[in-house]
Amino acid sequence: MRIVLLGAPGAGKGTQCKYIVDRYHLLHLSSGDILRRHRVRGTELGKKAQSYMDSGGLVPDNVIIEMMIGEIGRAPAGGYVLDGFPRTVKQAAGLDKALGDKDEKIDAVLNLSVDEDVIVRRITGRRICPKCAAVYHIENVRPRVDGVCDKDGSKLVQRPDDTAEVVITRLKNYNEQTAPLVDYYNRGDSVYTIDANGDAEDVKELIFSKLDSLA
Ligand code: AMP
Repeated sequence: MRIVLLGAPGAGKGTQCKYIVDRYHLLHLSSGDILRRHRVRGTELGKKAQSYMDSGGLVPDNVIIEMMIGEIGRAPAGGYVLDGFPRTVKQAAGLDKALGDKDEKIDAVLNLSVDEDVIVRRITGRRICPKCAAVYHIENVRPRVDGVCDKDGSKLVQRPDDTAEVVITRLKNYNEQTAPLVDYYNRGDSVYTIDANGDAEDVKELIFSKLDSLA
């Protein structure tokens, strides 16, 4: 199964992807995580992406398309969930073209819909482990010891693009560049919009019942 997960930053895409890949044995391909790993490794791609990412802008389409098509090409036959990609209509068209060349297609597009005030609270309270990328929240998903990763003891940090100022830019980019993807994919009749304002566990059940009905 090949799934695209759409939703504004902070809609819970990363959290829901983890549930989905565990249950359906898929590969989680998060463009943001892949870019952050490039930055940690200090690759050319990571260096190129850095300034766009920290200011809340989008990394150029051609760079992202090439990176993600490469990742998809190495994915196992069971399928994958795309998280954070595509983020523009040009990226979606690039993805369709690459899949079409292999006689493949996206099976389902899940659109996580969340109110903007909920998004801002979720993002600005988010803290991550710089080492293992585990995600916490200062109110909802607290580590056992404040500010310390449960898994490896690293000091948790706030992503530079999770500050209140940068969130505004990211939401603007989302509304202008990514939200039109819902219409793009709706033409193929494969978009399922999920109310993702609630608890992660409740949202997970909504997603599972939809995906079970498709399997
Ligand atoms: P995320 O973790 O998905 O919120 O992504 C973090 C940042 O990485 C974004 O704000 C962008 O700067 C960059 N990024 C991730 N995915 C993409 C994409 N598909 N297109 C362009 N930029 C991206």
